[in-house]
Amino acid sequence: MTTIAQEPKHKKAKALRPGARRPAKELCSECGLCDTYYIHYVKEACAFLNQQFDSLEEQTHGRSRNLENQDDWYFGVHQDMMAARKKEPIEGAQWTGIVSTIACEMLTRGIVEGVVCVQNTKEDRFQPMPVLARTPEEVLAARVNKPTLSPNLSVLELVERSGMKRLLVIGVGCQIQALRAVEKHLGLEKLYVLGTPCVDNVTRAGLQKFLETTSYSPDTVVHYEFMQDFQVHFKHEDGSIEKVPFFGLNTKKLKNVFAPSCMSCFDYVNGLADLVVGYMGAPFGWQWIVVRNQLGQEMLDLVMDMLDTQPVMSQGNRHQAVQQSIPAYDKAVTLPLWAAKLMGVVIEKIGPKGLEYARFSIDSHFVRNYLYVKRNHQEKLAAHVPEFAQRIVAQYQLPK
Ligand code: FAD
Ligand code: SF4
Repeated sequence: MTTIAQEPKHKKAKALRPGARRPAKELCSECGLCDTYYIHYVKEACAFLNQQFDSLEEQTHGRSRNLENQDDWYFGVHQDMMAARKKEPIEGAQWTGIVSTIACEMLTRGIVEGVVCVQNTKEDRFQPMPVLARTPEEVLAARVNKPTLSPNLSVLELVERSGMKRLLVIGVGCQIQALRAVEKHLGLEKLYVLGTPCVDNVTRAGLQKFLETTSYSPDTVVHYEFMQDFQVHFKHEDGSIEKVPFFGLNTKKLKNVFAPSCMSCFDYVNGLADLVVGYMGAPFGWQWIVVRNQLGQEMLDLVMDMLDTQPVMSQGNRHQAVQQSIPAYDKAVTLPLWAAKLMGVVIEKIGPKGLEYARFSIDSHFVRNYLYVKRNHQEKLAAHVPEFAQRIVAQYQLPK
């Protein structure tokens, strides 16, 4: 008797057409899952419909966060952390190009057959265009942040159809949460996940508003970053750097610019990636590496001889600065430029550095996001905010 292999049920599901309302409604981060037949799993997989850090961390790293250990609350499950930078940075990368370098090495050494990453469209440097890269050139064309919501998972159907068995996915937290939830349905033998931290993302229209409100030359910005010196650094086409102090941002105009998904996210540090490459826990000019598990260590080992490294450090005390910023943000206070610059200089001199800066940023965003969920989605609050985030928020006095 012959048995006929059953087609997985998800293959019968229909992807949503562009522009159609997503199951997570206004909280959708456009991660791309619903652009594929994996929408079949959306109720379980979507980061905004089903918060399941504990079980996905257990599945990925072999354990969930140890709540007795404050470093786990903040930085997630990890076995190592360091500051690093490429000895020879990649021209045009967001920082020194550690992410692109790891992906290129994995392809050229045949460890993976493809890399999910995001290029931009020809017409618009900030319009994301997710791709399944098969060559180092295609990976390098995806270097630098697209500071906009990006449907990276929209190429997952392509992965399954291509018959690929070994894959690297580069992505931010909400994309990786959904990816981990459907990982077992992708038909892969090996999946590597290289994550970046992510916060305060925007739609393409939101980005335009942010640039126009904040930069003196919005059309020439090639990339920007909220830096550890408490200023936004805009890099322009001619290579010049424009610095705008955080405390001088026009909070009133910018209050609604961040996507609702990012206002309700508690996965700043990308807790489900194997390896995370950011900057906020490292000294200025360096990248911050968090190795979560053995796969992450293997990925990092591929490029170690191309890096300068140093141990992570932590200095200062963030608590007062975070507490004071809560009512100021809530009332959308904007300081005059001279005062904002002065405040930035003082805080940079005496303020939190290294891991303490990362904690400052996590605390400020988690408090803001907790208040956002409480005020706008009260019914979701208990299930959506993970225990580690509740503990972080509980350190502060919150306004009503
Ligand atoms: P590169 O070699 O330049 O490669 C960048 C990679 O990012 C590319 O492979 C590309 O596919 C991927 N990518 C670009 N845009 C997106 C996107 N929208 N969604 C998913 N993947 C994308 N780090 C911090 O420490 N603190 C932060 O607050 C922080 N905020 C971030 C916000 C956003 C929206 C993004 C995308 C990243 C953020 N990062 C943050 C990470 C940091 O800015 C760098 O991306 C990281 O350090 C890697 O630098 P690199 O030079 O090694 O990357
Ligand atoms: Fe679908 Fe992703 Fe939006 Fe959730 S966040 S509704 S999974 S596209």
